[in-house]
Amino acid sequence: MDRRKFINLGGLGVTSFTLSSFVPQQNIKGPLVVSTWDAGIAANAGAWTILGSGGKALDAVEKGVMVTEDEMNCCVGLGANPDRDGFVTLDASIMDHEFNCGSVAFLERIKHPISVARRVMEKTPHVMLVGEGAQQFALEQGFKLESGELSKDAKNAYKNWLKNSEYKPVINIERKNAISQLDPNKMAPHKLATGEWNHDTIGMIALDSFGNLSGSCTTSGAGFKMRGRIGDSPVIGAGLYVDNEVGAVVATGQGEDVIRVAGSSAVVEQMRQGKSPTEACKIIVERINRIKKEKAKDIQICFIAINKKGEFGAYSLHKGFNYAVHNKEGNKLYESTSLD
Ligand code: ASP
Repeated sequence: MDRRKFINLGGLGVTSFTLSSFVPQQNIKGPLVVSTWDAGIAANAGAWTILGSGGKALDAVEKGVMVTEDEMNCCVGLGANPDRDGFVTLDASIMDHEFNCGSVAFLERIKHPISVARRVMEKTPHVMLVGEGAQQFALEQGFKLESGELSKDAKNAYKNWLKNSEYKPVINIERKNAISQLDPNKMAPHKLATGEWNHDTIGMIALDSFGNLSGSCTTSGAGFKMRGRIGDSPVIGAGLYVDNEVGAVVATGQGEDVIRVAGSSAVVEQMRQGKSPTEACKIIVERINRIKKEKAKDIQICFIAINKKGEFGAYSLHKGFNYAVHNKEGNKLYESTSLD
């Protein structure tokens, strides 16, 4: 019980949140929105402006993650860490309740990759556009070309990284004690008092009051990655998957190892076999752990999932993953259970 924290977030349209590893398996249907990391609290509040007034899950998951993309000093979007050549490159995907999906990858200088992904889904015969072509499409659709200048935090982080120029996977965790330091007026992880973020993604899944599911995922990918590297987030079936008969799943962590097992789709298949969201996530995390063997200690993998009944769950390879859940009862932060 001493891990439970109650903080007043009135200024953000959030009445309270709880950090708890206890997940009540409620049997309430939607609306419900679940998203990754503590940035999910502010993103959920954005999504709830749509879901809470009877709107569609698809609109909610786009609007929700745009809150995080908007943050110029955040771990997601244009303010995030660059690749090893000093450029921020963004990946995003979106999927609705009818198997419509769209994604963009290696997209530069566009503020809202999630909205470009939605346009790919709605305005093209394709699922995925990358690089120059994705940017050209965004400009044709009226998106603005941003300057491409790194944010202050990213400039400093890049300068530090250049000292050794070494690319290593990092274990994505919310910073030590970060939760207890949360300032109610400063919810995004980058705004916490100390240290740097070490995760780069927000994933969001939602069930609306029509009983429909949708999901979204947006990321700057792994910081200091090779130029052209694309992770799991824009890969439908890996970083995100939605099957409206079963459930919705999104991943965060080491993208390469999520792609290897078609992670989000694999979690959905476990739910189809009758597993709860948490059990389904656990089975796929364990599978990745077996595949990676001793190298599993160097990476983080996390999934969040919801099913048609409005049950939610999460599981991660290592401790330190948290996720935000907004339903009619409020907007709460949960600590994920993990393999270690
Ligand atoms: N999954 C993302 C990627 O590999 C990174 C993250 O979740 O932080 O690109």
